[in-house]
Amino acid sequence: MLCLLSLVASLLEHQLADMSALRASIGTLAVLGLRDLLMAERPTTAYLMVGGRCASDCSYCGQGRSACGDGRHLSRIVWPDVSQDELIEALSAHPGSFSRVCFQTTTSRGVVRDLVSLVPRVRAALDVPVSVSYRVRGLEEARRLFAAGVERIGVAVDVCSARLYPQLRGGTLEEAVAQVKELARHFPGRISTHIIIGLGESEKEAAELIMELHEAGILVSLFAFTPVRGTGMEASSPPEMLSYRKMQALVGLLDAGERPLELTYDAENRLCGFGVTADTLRRILDEQPVFLTHGCPGCNRPFYNERPGMEPFNFPTMHPVGNRRVVAEFVAGLEAQGFVFGHGQKGSGSPCPSGEP
Ligand code: SF4
Repeated sequence: MLCLLSLVASLLEHQLADMSALRASIGTLAVLGLRDLLMAERPTTAYLMVGGRCASDCSYCGQGRSACGDGRHLSRIVWPDVSQDELIEALSAHPGSFSRVCFQTTTSRGVVRDLVSLVPRVRAALDVPVSVSYRVRGLEEARRLFAAGVERIGVAVDVCSARLYPQLRGGTLEEAVAQVKELARHFPGRISTHIIIGLGESEKEAAELIMELHEAGILVSLFAFTPVRGTGMEASSPPEMLSYRKMQALVGLLDAGERPLELTYDAENRLCGFGVTADTLRRILDEQPVFLTHGCPGCNRPFYNERPGMEPFNFPTMHPVGNRRVVAEFVAGLEAQGFVFGHGQKGSGSPCPSGEP
């Protein structure tokens, strides 16, 4: 009897395994020769997605439970279905095509089981590091993923505002941050997070959270909010470019070891001083292109947040000349907004102007 039960259980498990959806970003499929697509920029990471319709209901996400679009989008990107065998065969046939593989996931049954079986197959086909972006439920799940060959786990915080978190994502920001920090304590150097700029948070809320997560040793990857049709936020606007650039510059300053930074804010909670001089800021932005996509090594996410032809929030590639232009425009934008530059000493930022640019 026991044998029969375990046979039924294993058949059911097998069926469920077959039911799980595997998708790949359209750019990934194009690099692998599985789709025809003219690309201005090639993805340097293979972006895959596992899991069915998401049980979570984030207001801004095309995969959310209440989203009424076609469910094919994550941010701006279309994710067609692909069979496991077709994908593995294509990865084996294209050595050197990607420097990383990244699994995006939805909150749905069997995701960890699918990852644990898929990751070793993918790594055998293409020997590159693997990232998984997944809302890990506890240390044990994280251990299972690392044991399967995952190099980094990204646990998205997404929403930077404690005010907005319950309404946009469910749960609390405090819990989300505590969870990702606990993971970082147990798995130092292997935990990332995603933050979306432009969901209605203030610059102060975003900047303070970035500082806190960075301080905890978590790699902070920035996304610009992108309205997706069929979601509760389809009519909202992306963030202002200057606001987004400030957050990128902040991450760049932190990565460069400019700590402790003393940030200052105006009456509307706009970031109006890093506590460094304009020269220090220019030097750091010239030395390290902070406006490039920031994330796991090898991740460039082309056109995740922008249409080809528009100024990218995150540049997938950047020539030094292009970087100098963006830095010059950024610093000019800060000056026009009345940004306060320190005088060469960390933490010497003067009080901000009273809220007017
Ligand atoms: S930063 Fe890039 S590679 Fe890393 S988890 Fe995010 S999307 Fe994936």
